[in-house]
Amino acid sequence: MKLYISSDMEGVAGVTTWKQVDARTPHPEYSTFRRYYTQEVRAAIDGARQAGVGEILVNDSHGPMHNLLFDELPTDVRVIFGNRKPYSMAQSADGGFGGAFFVGYHGAVGDENAVLCHTYTPSVIYEVRVNDVVCSEATINAGLLGYYGVPLLLITGDRTTVQGAQRQMPWVCGAIVKESIGSFAADSLTPAAAQALIRDAARQAIARAQEAQPYRFTPPVTLDVQLVTAAQADLVATIPGFTRTGGRSVRFVHAEFPVVFRAFVATWRMGAIAG
Ligand SMILES: [Zn+2]
Repeated sequence: MKLYISSDMEGVAGVTTWKQVDARTPHPEYSTFRRYYTQEVRAAIDGARQAGVGEILVNDSHGPMHNLLFDELPTDVRVIFGNRKPYSMAQSADGGFGGAFFVGYHGAVGDENAVLCHTYTPSVIYEVRVNDVVCSEATINAGLLGYYGVPLLLITGDRTTVQGAQRQMPWVCGAIVKESIGSFAADSLTPAAAQALIRDAARQAIARAQEAQPYRFTPPVTLDVQLVTAAQADLVATIPGFTRTGGRSVRFVHAEFPVVFRAFVATWRMGAIAG
C-alpha cells in the first residue's frame, strides 16, 4: 500500500503555545518541538512500515510548511515542503494512495478544550461548513482524499481532535497524545510515550484499513464560510463564483470537491490580505 501522511504541529505531545510551533519568529522552544514533531511523524512511518506499507509521501502541513527535520526521517520516504500549494494540507492527494494518516492535528476553530484550535487561518476563518457539516482541517482534508477514494486511517492529536474525527469517520484509528485543558494548556504524554502510542496506532490502522471508507461530500458541494471580519468577506466575494450570504459570510457551490477545496484555499488567502 502507498500511504499519504499530512502532518501538523499543534497536536504534537506537549505543545500548548503558539511560540512552540512558530517557525517565522522562532522562539528557542521551536527547535525542540520541531524535533518532537519530526519524531511523531517518524513513529507513524515506522508503525506503518511494520504493518507492511511500502511507499510513503509526507506533506509537511504546518505554518510555512518546512518544519520537518528531513535527515531524521527514513531515506526512502518523499516529503513535500513549502507553502502556497494549491491543495495545501492535502497537496498531491490522488487515487494512487491506499490510505492516509493525519499526524499532529488539532481541533477546529471554536472547539472547547482543544489546544491552539483553529481551521486553517485563525485571523480569517470563524467557521467552515461543507454541505452544512461544521468542518475541522481534518474534515476538509479527508474530504479531498475521499474524493479520490482514499480513506483516512489514523489521526493523532488531543482527545478533542481524535474524537471529533471519529464522530465524522467512525472507522478512523486514533492516538490521543494529550488532554487539552482549554486553548493553552494540556495534560500530555511525554514525547517517548506519545511516539510509542502513535507507532502502535499506525500499525493497527494499517491492519484495519479494509474497514475504512473514503469520506465523501455528496455533490453539488456547498461551502459556507464565516469570516472574522466584513472586510474579509468584501474581498472574498469578488472572486468569481462566490456569493455573499451575510455581512461576513460567503458561499461557493460546485459539483467537484477539488474545485470547492481550491475555493476554500482562495478564501483564506484572499481574506488574509484584507486587513
Ligand atoms: Zn498547524
